[in-house]
Amino acid sequence: MARYIGPICKLCRREGEKLFLKGSKCLGPKCIMERRKPSPGGGRGRRTRKLSDYGLRLREKQKLRRMYGILDRQFRRYFRMAERKRGITGEVLLQLLERRLDNIVFRLGFAISRNEARQLVRHGHFEVNEKRVNIPSYLVKAGDTIKARDKSKKIKDVMEFTKEREMPGWLELDRKSLAGTVAKIPSRKEIAVPVQEKLIVELLSR
Ligand code: SF4
Repeated sequence: MARYIGPICKLCRREGEKLFLKGSKCLGPKCIMERRKPSPGGGRGRRTRKLSDYGLRLREKQKLRRMYGILDRQFRRYFRMAERKRGITGEVLLQLLERRLDNIVFRLGFAISRNEARQLVRHGHFEVNEKRVNIPSYLVKAGDTIKARDKSKKIKDVMEFTKEREMPGWLELDRKSLAGTVAKIPSRKEIAVPVQEKLIVELLSR
C-alpha cells in the first residue's frame, strides 16, 4: 500500500496545528510547532489567506487523513463505505478510521505513533483473535482481541513510555499479557479527534 514519504513535520505546518505524527518528538521542545509560529503551506513567510468555504472543507479532510496516515484514494474509499452504512456518515467515517488495526495498536499504547504502529503491524508483530494479521488497514470489530506476539523489551519500553497516555474507554488493556480488547465501537464523543467531520461530508458528498 502506497504511503506518504515526504517530510512529516511539514504536514503539521500545512494544517497549522500539531497532528502528533512523530511520537515522542511531538511532546517535547523539539517540535517545530512549539518553536515558531506555524506558516501555512509549509513555506517561509507566506501570508495567511482567508480560506474559502471549499478551502476550509478541504483542510479538514486533509487534516483527518494525515492524522491517520492514509492517502486520498483510500480515504475516499472509507467515505463511500461510511455513506453506505447506517448512521451519521461523519461519525461512521471516524469509526471506520478508528477501527483500523494500526490505529488500535497505537491507541492501546503498543506504539508511539500511528506510523510506528503501521510498521509493527506490517512486520507481523500482532495477532487478532489469535491469528497473525499484518494488514494495517484491517478493520477490527467489537469483541476482538489484539495481542502482541513479540514480548520483546522494545514493546515493553514503548508501553512504559505510553502508559501515561489516556486509554480510550472503549478499549481494554491487559498489560501483563500484552493484549487488548475492543469493548465496543466508539461513539463520536469517544473519538478524540479535533476535526469537524460535517465539513468533510459536505466536501465529499458533492
Ligand atoms: Fe507535528 Fe510531531 Fe513534527 Fe511537531 S514533532 S510538527 S507535532 S509531527
